Amino acid sequence: MTRQENERLQVAIDGPAGAGKSSLAKALAQRLGAVYVDTGAIYRAVGLSIARQGGDCRKPEDVLPRLPEIKLTLDFGSDGLQRMYLNGEDVTEAIRDNAVSAYASQVSAIPEVRAFLLEMQRQLAAEQSVVMDGRDIGTVVLPQAQVKIFLTASPEQRALRRWKELRAKGQEADLAVIQAEIIQRDYDDSHRAAAPLRRAEDAVEVDTSALNLEESLEALYAVVKERAGR
Ligand code: C5P
Repeated sequence: MTRQENERLQVAIDGPAGAGKSSLAKALAQRLGAVYVDTGAIYRAVGLSIARQGGDCRKPEDVLPRLPEIKLTLDFGSDGLQRMYLNGEDVTEAIRDNAVSAYASQVSAIPEVRAFLLEMQRQLAAEQSVVMDGRDIGTVVLPQAQVKIFLTASPEQRALRRWKELRAKGQEADLAVIQAEIIQRDYDDSHRAAAPLRRAEDAVEVDTSALNLEESLEALYAVVKERAGR
């Protein structure tokens, strides 16, 4: 291994929806001088593409024939923020729509979809130091990551955060509905056969229910320092 490869840092952050993964991973990456890779965006883009074509994201027979036509590109601007392109179209905002969360979860349960996206994710981590968040980063995508964090929070807190996020973007949202959707998505993500959401054995669990953003960031940074010495 060359010195440069040796210095490359991989931080894997997994956990259920709304635990604060993306805000925290983004802030942590900035602090570490690493690139933040949001792998949920990749599944969201696949779900969006299938749904736009009128396909049912739960049906492999609808999804698989369309996969080869899906070209995904991630671009990291000078601000380090990730933009997602689907066949050349910038879908960074479109994939945040609440309906797309369910499409993403549905396509992500299909093993061939996961296999299709695996190499892309590994390649990103091979090229640069990354903080990567998702559901199976510590278990499947980067099993050798120096730092693995399993981020959780109570379903009530997670629903409240998601609700505030949607409201801030001007989207109509009902808290009870959001909480039910989150619980359903966690259940589906944890019980699927292919790469289910679970804590890697060597991951450190961080519960952010009672922590604000700065406190959570400090907790994550402490784990990085302990595991990777930086
Ligand atoms: O993280 P985010 O909520 O954007 O992810 C959307 C969905 O994509 C998740 O509910 C999950 O089903 C799927 N996903 C996954 N593996 C990842 C990232 C996301 O299965 N590494």
